[in-house]
Formats: sequence, C-alpha cells, structure tokens
Amino acid sequence: MNSKIPGPNTICTHIGEVEDQQFKGAISPLFMSSSYAYEDVEVKRYPRYFNTPNQEALCKKIAMLEKSEAALIFGSGMAAVSTAMLAFLHKGDHVVLPQTLYGGTYNFVVEEFHKFGIEYSFAEGFSEADFSEKIRDNTKVLFVETPSNPLMRITDLEMISKLAKQHDLVTMIDNTFASPVNQTPADFGIDIMIHSATKYMGGHSDICAGTVAASEEHIKKIWNLAKNLGGSLSDYTVWLLERSMKTMVLRVKAQNKNAKKMAKWLENHALVENVYYPGLKNHADYPLAKKQMSGYTGMLSFEINEALNVGKFLKALKLIKPSMSLAGVESTILSPAKTSHGLLSPEARKEQGISDGLLRFSVGIEETEDLIADLEGAFEAVSNKNLV
Ligand SMILES: *Cc1c(COP(=O)(O)O)cnc(C)c1O
Repeated sequence: MNSKIPGPNTICTHIGEVEDQQFKGAISPLFMSSSYAYEDVEVKRYPRYFNTPNQEALCKKIAMLEKSEAALIFGSGMAAVSTAMLAFLHKGDHVVLPQTLYGGTYNFVVEEFHKFGIEYSFAEGFSEADFSEKIRDNTKVLFVETPSNPLMRITDLEMISKLAKQHDLVTMIDNTFASPVNQTPADFGIDIMIHSATKYMGGHSDICAGTVAASEEHIKKIWNLAKNLGGSLSDYTVWLLERSMKTMVLRVKAQNKNAKKMAKWLENHALVENVYYPGLKNHADYPLAKKQMSGYTGMLSFEINEALNVGKFLKALKLIKPSMSLAGVESTILSPAKTSHGLLSPEARKEQGISDGLLRFSVGIEETEDLIADLEGAFEAVSNKNLV
C-alpha cells in the first residue's frame, strides 16, 4: 500500500468517511443513534464517549489534516480548549499563555483556574524571552495562539517547541485563525492542535464545534476527562461539519487570495492609517509568517482615520456585514474596541494597539471588485463632511 499521506483536498473529500454498505451512497450516512449494542461488539459506542460512527470518522479526517495520530470533536471551540487544558493541568500546576488571547480562553483562565488551584502567567509579547521569563518549576503547559487576534502577530512555533522541550512542557496551539490549510503546527513539533471548528472548518457560519488533534497518548488523556465533562458534539452537527470540510481547502485558499488583494488595496487607501496582514511585506512578522505558514489566512485588520465616524462607516457597508464571528464564506467586519476588547479601559486598549478606528475584517469568497466597491462607498459616506 502507498504510505504517502494524501494531499489536503483528498483528505477533506475521502479520509474518514463512513461507508454506506447498505445502499452504496456517495457520502457518509448519518447515524443518529444514542444507543448501541454492547454484546458481541468490538467497540461500545455512545455519543458522550466521542465514538459514534460519524464522530469516529470525522476524527480521522481532522487527525490526518493536522498530521496527528488521533483527534476528538467537541461541542464548541471552548469545550475543546477547556478540556485539553484541564487534562494536563492539575492543582498546583502552572501554565504560560500569551497576553493576547482569544477572549473566551482568557475568561476561562482568569475566571475558572483559581477554583482548580491552577496557576497561570501571561507572556507580554511573542518573543522567546517573553515566554521563557514566565516559566517556573511547576509550569506544565505552554499555550500559544498564532496568528493573534486582531493584529495578526505571529508566534514562532519552532522556538516554542524548542523552549518547551528544554523545560519538559506540553505545547498547545489554538490554530483557529490559520486553519489546517495554512498552518500545520505538528511540522514544528507542537504537541496539541486545537480549533474552533465554528470558524474555518465549518466555514458557513452555521456550526458551533471544536476539535483537538494530537498523539494517541495525548488524546487518550484528553478523552479520559472529555467523557466525564461531556462536551461531545451531536451527530447531526458532526455530519454537517464533515460536509463543510470537504470544501475547506478551496474556501480557505480563495479567502487567502482575496484577503491579500484587500490588504494591498487598503494599504494604498488615503483614509487607511494601518493594515495588519501577515502576508504584507511590511507586517512586523512577515518573515516568520512566511517560514511557518503556507497561506496568510482570510483575516486582516485595518485602521481608519480616527477623525472618521466608525459607526457610520460600518452602517454604510451593504455587503460586508458587521458580525461577531469570523471565517465564513461571507465577508464580515468587527470593531474590536466595541466588542472583543470593549470591557478594557481605553488606556488598556491603547496599550494593546486597539484604537477606536481599528476594524477586523474576515474576508470571504466574494469577488474582490464587489468588496472594494462596498468599502469605497462606505469611505465616501464618512469622508468630506465628517473629516474635521
Ligand atoms: C471562536 C474562537 C474560539 C472559541 O470557539 P467557540 O466555537 O466559539 O467556542 C477559540 N479560539 C479562537 C481563536 C476563536 O476565534
């Protein structure tokens, strides 16, 4: 048998399908049973054991995409994040995470860890020194998220896994923003890959799910806790996610291409102060992004002139909808100062580089000419009369 790993499109369309032995249909049949026989069977199946036919099949697809031995699918990205972390962090243990962290993960750490007696430190930047100075004798896990939200800063994955090996730490990455299409952290020695499948894996803004991929040994440890916490995903949504993932590579590559075009167009716009996209040569982390990513994602942020009325700008957009989530096939936009970073003081926001004019843009698969026309219309609506 050919032992070569198939390409990502082949994995997305063929690996981990449930065979329809009865009718020979082209796609995986959906098994909604919450009750399976226990006698004379090899595997005792139950939805909360993460091992129904549809769950088991999709896990194979995800594991292979992340170049890992095994995977688990959860009811949300946060179920995946929290279960993975709690599986490796016990009372008295310590974890290092970046200061710039997805809001839900940040809240989970600061609101819940003290109840479990788990200690944590936030690395203030993205360099080796920023992470290593926070490592203590009781540190067990090094957690990273790259690219970061919303300024798209990049953390060096090779550096992180080397640092972790020196201190015998388990490494975890929230790989959501990159998607497995643009970044496979296992190539750099990262142990555990986590996704909010609500984003690029789902891709149509209609699924809430999460995934974890790792070695058999690490997945076993996470599964032992996962079955007790009970954050599994219903088979119907597993089936939808499998369907969505068949086109993931096509979608994400189209989004990468569109985002690069939009970043370049925004960069040359008179009313745009800054564009943050790791695929632009003047982005602070461009060389690092080039080294460890095969595409620069559909996510970017840009800063419009502070004298412009941001609210009016967003209202004037007809195609690009202001929206809390990201990574759908449709373009969406969000003001971090009003949403994800809205609870921070204006000073704290400024410290993190989040100005009132900053907008996070999740670029979809529409024609870029239409996206440009939409943005141009919004700039026209707020310029002249509103520029003081
Ligand atoms: C959305 C998101 C999560 C959380 O996922 P949910 O599916 O909303 O629970 C975690 N990390 C990142 C980077 C995200 O964008």
